[in-house]
Amino acid sequence: MLIIAHNLVVPIWGIVNQKGGVGKTTTAVNIAAALANRNQKTLLIDADPQGNATTGLGVDKKSVRSSLYDVFVHGINHPEDSKIIKGSIIQINKCLDLIPTTIDLSGAEAQLLTAVGKEYILKDAIKHVKDNYQWIIIDAPPSLGLITINVLSASHSVLVPMQSEFYALEGLTQLMKTIAIVKKRINPNLSIAKVLLTMYDNRSRLSKQVTEELDTFFGEKLSDIKIPKNVRLSEAPSFGKSAIDLYPTSKGTVAYQNFVDKIMLM
Ligand code: ATP
Ligand code: MG
Repeated sequence: MLIIAHNLVVPIWGIVNQKGGVGKTTTAVNIAAALANRNQKTLLIDADPQGNATTGLGVDKKSVRSSLYDVFVHGINHPEDSKIIKGSIIQINKCLDLIPTTIDLSGAEAQLLTAVGKEYILKDAIKHVKDNYQWIIIDAPPSLGLITINVLSASHSVLVPMQSEFYALEGLTQLMKTIAIVKKRINPNLSIAKVLLTMYDNRSRLSKQVTEELDTFFGEKLSDIKIPKNVRLSEAPSFGKSAIDLYPTSKGTVAYQNFVDKIMLM
């Protein structure tokens, strides 16, 4: 395995929004793929029991022997043991690795409830592998339960994908409150990296209006680069490949590549 000499901390970005269907997985998969295409050794962790990032990268869940569920369950009682997390890593391409998830993960929250240090299980597990990477991206589920708290506790930065729609701001207060509490009690280094508008339609008046409201709310945290509505982004997962690899010149993937180049790798 490639060992990377680091002077810097490995950036760990959690892709978080408890609202469903806002583009978390699409963002996680495509920024991870874009980083890997730029020779950044990247680990994508699928922390959503739906396992959309796993399927979207062409991994058949039935063939998965060890998943993030096993990492959580093992990590509860064996924080020093790296065997399970190392064994769960699947190589997708030269620079992209994945820790897959199966529906088993939906049972993990109940098991975590009685664990000592239940908010730190993922963070402790990642410690065993993080030095092999230049980037770690975690796709969170659409909830603010214990798995998402683990994602926030393991991350340095949160990337919040949002749809520019009427209800976009609903639920945002709850998300900001959760991030603030995690920062205060669990992970003082946590910060919001960017709020990223997805499925953006620049012809729609509503999109523009919501963007203005978000701009007032978030200021410079709102990414200038927006991800347009683009059917290629929604088609790619059914081929088990990122849109970045399948349609590198479509307008959706170009936007993700710009985001990676101008915001993540600047
Ligand atoms: P969940 O909360 O269920 O995990 P999510 O936040 O991860 O959802 P995605 O699965 O990434 O959201 O996206 C929801 C749907 O929208 C998917 O069908 C996806 O293919 C599609 N989609 C995402 N981004 C775009 C885009 N920019 N243009 C068109 N379709 C998109
Ligand atoms: Mg998802």
